[in-house]
Amino acid sequence: MSRITNPSYVTRIMKERGFSTKKRFGQNFLIDQNIVGRIIQTADLQPDEWVLEIGPGLGALTMHLGEQAAHVVAMEIDRGLAAILRDTLVSPTVTVWEGDALEADWEQLLLDAAWQGERLKLVANLPYYLTTPLVMKALESNLPFVSIVVMVQREVGLRMLAQPGSSDYGVLSLAVQYYCQASLAFAVPRTVFLPAPSVDSVVVVLKPKPPQVDAPRAELFTVIRAAFQQRRKTIRNALREVAAGWGLDTDQLEQALHAVEIEPTLRGERLSLEEYSRLTKELLKGV
Ligand code: SAM
Repeated sequence: MSRITNPSYVTRIMKERGFSTKKRFGQNFLIDQNIVGRIIQTADLQPDEWVLEIGPGLGALTMHLGEQAAHVVAMEIDRGLAAILRDTLVSPTVTVWEGDALEADWEQLLLDAAWQGERLKLVANLPYYLTTPLVMKALESNLPFVSIVVMVQREVGLRMLAQPGSSDYGVLSLAVQYYCQASLAFAVPRTVFLPAPSVDSVVVVLKPKPPQVDAPRAELFTVIRAAFQQRRKTIRNALREVAAGWGLDTDQLEQALHAVEIEPTLRGERLSLEEYSRLTKELLKGV
């Protein structure tokens, strides 16, 4: 068993360093070696692959990532944790970068660590308060991720994987479908963290792929966001403002909906990515 996941090690190192966990940074450390092993297995690292890790914490995953991959760049916002990591995880295959992963230029950090375009994976037990923005940053980045393996709050995982018609389906589900193939790896109970969070987690695997729909991305997501802004509105009412912004009146919006065979009284949560793409293209014809 790795000492990093041993609760007495975690408690001892925190005490020695005068470190206490910060809720505002979503600090819940993994203390279950079995779960760590399953995440590492899911990441399926090859010796020539590079890893970007967000929030290494005390290094529960980092140590194993560094053993299996060519190199790991781990971004940690907490100065105290970054200092502990630098002392406890001395490894030529791990670079600890201290700062905010959301603000960071990931490509630059990789290049600074001598990445030369090798195969790249993102692996992280994400801080819950930033899950969606960090996942969106990964999806929208131009980095060639082979896969993105993330532990997220169960509810967010369900939203990432949701299909049309489900109450979890929304902008995040459509963004995930737009950029990748998503699958659930396994569920993780709250009891395997120190301190234990108030929610359960899941590990999700995202495999980026070229978009399967051809509406222009910015306009597509303008339509999608409008459709879900007020979930209870019909698609016709929800899109009035966007249509008006594009110079289209309500009749033209209705015509576009009919042209692509979408019932105007449906709610946005019923429509697939393909239908949103067709509708966006149809609306843009009239602009
Ligand atoms: N990977 C460790 C583990 O599994 O035990 C810790 C995971 S903990 C859920 C989330 C980690 O993300 C914490 O170490 C926290 O300090 C760090 N973190 C929070 N916000 C961050 C940010 N904006 N950029 C980089 N790291 C962040």
